[in-house]
Amino acid sequence: MATVGIIPGDGIGPEITEATVRVLSAAAPYLSYEYIPVGHLIPGGEHDPLPDAAVAGIRRLGAALKAPLVAPRRTGRIVKVRPDGDRVYPSINNAVRRELDLFANVRPIQSLPGISSGPDLDFLIVREVSEGTYSGIEYRIGDDVAQAVKVVTRGAWERIAHFSFRLAVEQGYGRVILGHKANVLNLTDGLELEVVQEVARQYPEVELQDMMVDALGQAIVRGAVPRAVVLLDNQYGDILSDVAAGVTGSIGLGPGANFGESVAVFEACHGAAPDIAGTGRANPVGLILSGAMMIRHLGDAAAADAVEAAVETALTRVRTPDLGGTATTTDVADAVVEAVRAAA
Ligand code: ATP
Ligand code: MG
Repeated sequence: MATVGIIPGDGIGPEITEATVRVLSAAAPYLSYEYIPVGHLIPGGEHDPLPDAAVAGIRRLGAALKAPLVAPRRTGRIVKVRPDGDRVYPSINNAVRRELDLFANVRPIQSLPGISSGPDLDFLIVREVSEGTYSGIEYRIGDDVAQAVKVVTRGAWERIAHFSFRLAVEQGYGRVILGHKANVLNLTDGLELEVVQEVARQYPEVELQDMMVDALGQAIVRGAVPRAVVLLDNQYGDILSDVAAGVTGSIGLGPGANFGESVAVFEACHGAAPDIAGTGRANPVGLILSGAMMIRHLGDAAAADAVEAAVETALTRVRTPDLGGTATTTDVADAVVEAVRAAA
C-alpha cells in the first residue's frame, strides 16, 4: 500500500488532478493519496507558497504528482527565509526543484497515433536542472553591460550522466545522445562532454553519441533523432523539450518528471492555463501520462503500460478542444478509466 503526494495546483490543476486520480485509482487501486497544498493561492501562500511542511511531506512520501502552479502575483519570486541566508527562487517550479534537490527533469517525447501531422518522434529528454545558465548568477555592470554565468561542475555532470545511462539501461534505450556546443563553449560544454564520455565507459552496453545542439534541434523537427535518451543541459533542455513537444502535437499531452536521489515529482509539461480553468476544456492527458510515469517509477510497469494503452484507445474517440474535439476533461477521464477496466 504505497502513498503518494498530490499537489492539486492552480488554474486547470484541480480538474486534471481529479481526472488523473480517477485513472490511477482504476489502474493501481492499492495507491493512496496525501494532498499537499502548495502555491501562493493556498491559505497563507502569499506569505510562503512552499511551506517547509510541504517539502518535508514530499520527501517523506518519496513521490508526488504535481499539477501546474501559477506564478506569484506581486513579486514573481519565491523567497525562503533561512538562518544561513535567504534563498530566492525565480519561480515556484524552480523552488520545488531546488528545495527538494531534484536534479533531473525527464520528458518522454512520443508521438501519439493520429494526433500530429509532424514526423513521429520517440525519444526521452533528460535535462540537467541544478546548474548551467539558469543558476541565477547574473550581473548588470552599469547601464550598458549585463552578464550571466554558466556554471558546470564535474559532480553535477557525473550525477546526471549516471542517471541518463541507468535510465537507458533500465528502459531499453540502447543509446544516449548528448547535445552540446563544445566547439564554441570549449570549457563549460567541453567539461560536460568530457565527463559524459568518462561515465559512458562504465556502460559498455549503451552507445554514446554527441551532437551539436543546433544540429540536434534540426534533427528533432525533421524526425531524424533515433530512439535514445537525449541528455541536455538546463537551457538547451528547456528549449528543445518544448520544441519536441510542439512537434508531437498539443501542449496538453506531454508528461514529465523531476528526479532527485530519493524523491521524484511528476508533472505535465504545460502550465496552469488560467484562460480555460473551470470550463471543462482542459486536456488531462499530460498529467494522466505523468501519473503513469509515477506508477512505473513505483515499480508497477504493468499498470503504467495499461494507462498508456488506455490513453491511446481513448484518444481515438474522445478529444478535448486543443486536439480539435468537443470532449470535456471528464469525458476523457471516463474514456480512459473505461479502457483501463476493459483491458484488465
Ligand atoms: P506557465 O507560465 O505556467 O508555463 P504558460 O504561459 O507557458 O504557463 P500554459 O498555462 O501552459 O502557458 O498555457 C498556454 C496555452 O496552452 C494556453 O492557451 C492554455 O489554455 C493552453 N493549454 C495549456 N495546457 C493545456 C491543457 N492541458 N489543455 C488544453 N489547453 C492547454
Ligand atoms: Mg510555459
